[in-house]
Amino acid sequence: MAPQIKYTKLFIDNEWVDAKSGKTFETYNPHDGSVIAKVAEGDKADIDLAVAAAKRAFHRNSEWRQLDASQRGEIIRKFADLIERDGQYIAELESYNNGTVMNFASMFVGSFVKTARYLASCADKLHGDTLAADGEVFSYTLKQPVGVCGLILPWNAPVGMFLNKVCTALAAGCTVVVKPAEQTPLTALVLASLLKEAGVPKGVVNVVNGFGPGAGTALTHHSDVAKISFTGSVEVGKLIQQAAGANNLKRVTLELGGKSPLVIMNDADLNLAVPYAANGVFFHQGQICIAASRLFVQSGIYDKFVEAAVKHAQSIKVGNPTDPTTQNGPQVDETMMTKVLGYIEKGKKEGAKLLCGGNRIGTTGYYIQPTVFADVTDDMTIAKEEIFGPVQSILKFDTLEEVIDRANNTNYGLAAGIFTTNVNTALQFSKYVEAGVVWVNTYLSFTPQAPFGGFKESGIGRENGMAALDAYLEVKTVTVSLPKKV
Ligand code: ADP
Repeated sequence: MAPQIKYTKLFIDNEWVDAKSGKTFETYNPHDGSVIAKVAEGDKADIDLAVAAAKRAFHRNSEWRQLDASQRGEIIRKFADLIERDGQYIAELESYNNGTVMNFASMFVGSFVKTARYLASCADKLHGDTLAADGEVFSYTLKQPVGVCGLILPWNAPVGMFLNKVCTALAAGCTVVVKPAEQTPLTALVLASLLKEAGVPKGVVNVVNGFGPGAGTALTHHSDVAKISFTGSVEVGKLIQQAAGANNLKRVTLELGGKSPLVIMNDADLNLAVPYAANGVFFHQGQICIAASRLFVQSGIYDKFVEAAVKHAQSIKVGNPTDPTTQNGPQVDETMMTKVLGYIEKGKKEGAKLLCGGNRIGTTGYYIQPTVFADVTDDMTIAKEEIFGPVQSILKFDTLEEVIDRANNTNYGLAAGIFTTNVNTALQFSKYVEAGVVWVNTYLSFTPQAPFGGFKESGIGRENGMAALDAYLEVKTVTVSLPKKV
């Protein structure tokens, strides 16, 4: 049975309101393309209201700013408990609106509850230092919240991105305006309702659904917004960085795309490497920025590996995301499905060897067969551009030196991985590969404590862990005159 749609309005100042324009937009189920709901479409006027509410909530005398840091932590902890309470519903709604298969959606919700609890426990551990300052002074630093933050979310992991960004901002003491992706507006509204239930004072968290050029740009250009945290494409990330410098000088955290190399050495344990490599690129239908979309396999095991990789891809069960046995669901919408199929055509045209998959499945919904290309070369489009779909591209290499240089020959630098039983190889690769996250004999392994973000065009700044909190804080130095001699 379809999950109930409880909220479709904007959430501003702890109230549910229509868009000022009265406009709505439709949101869809990617399993069959059917319309799920009509959602209020926020624009500049609504962003102005939401930012004003967040600004009031950030005033030094506001209820929020007067809370002890530990009380902020308590609210986030309560929020985590409520997500746990409603986890099944949240997972179902996520699956319904973006095609995440139910097993993964439940797992995602569970892991993001852990993240929220981690961030709750950080709230009262954000402190400055006393300095060993020269001269007749006493100096110390304070870490203080940056102010109103605009949080712009992607469609591939709406619940996770909301929780991660919002809980980090709240732990730091900021107030926020969230702009979910237009493809997936629903779960953010449910999470906003739980924040209200958890006791977040009014104006601290606001959610304005809408489109990039409308609500998105209004938020990134607003002069009362001190920081933007964005997850999405490189193209929009660049626009956001420009906008951030247009009216005031906003801080930015950008978590953008990737073309992540995963290297399989001759000495790797193939029983591990084959399924990890497959999961690394097929997980969530390939709609993850850290997808292992350039799979470099050393020449000594290349043929054997390719054969096993094809077998693995063919064994993946694609279907309705609500079926508990389904491993891969649909792409999020027709636009993305068409884009991925276009990349597959390019791969064929440019001479990559298509070993399995390559086609749309059926004619309703946005399903694509898990696809494996072998004999991919560095100059092919499928080896250079982010596909964001279930397409494994296998490239052959001979030496570690060669593969490090080839892995780094990209403007991206989000994640990388290596499978090897040689510790020197693992450490040398980890040292020289240009990526914000490196996995050794594993892939897609996340914990709330570990910072996450990219080198080069994969982004600016880090999310997760204490590094993420720093990005929501200003350091203030206080210096007090103090004679040395008593
Ligand atoms: P994708 O290509 O994966 O759909 P985008 O980078 O286009 O990702 O979008 C990610 C988020 O950024 C969405 O919430 C979208 O509405 C928003 N967005 C798109 N364009 C802009 C823009 N010019 N300014 C601010 N936000 C934008």
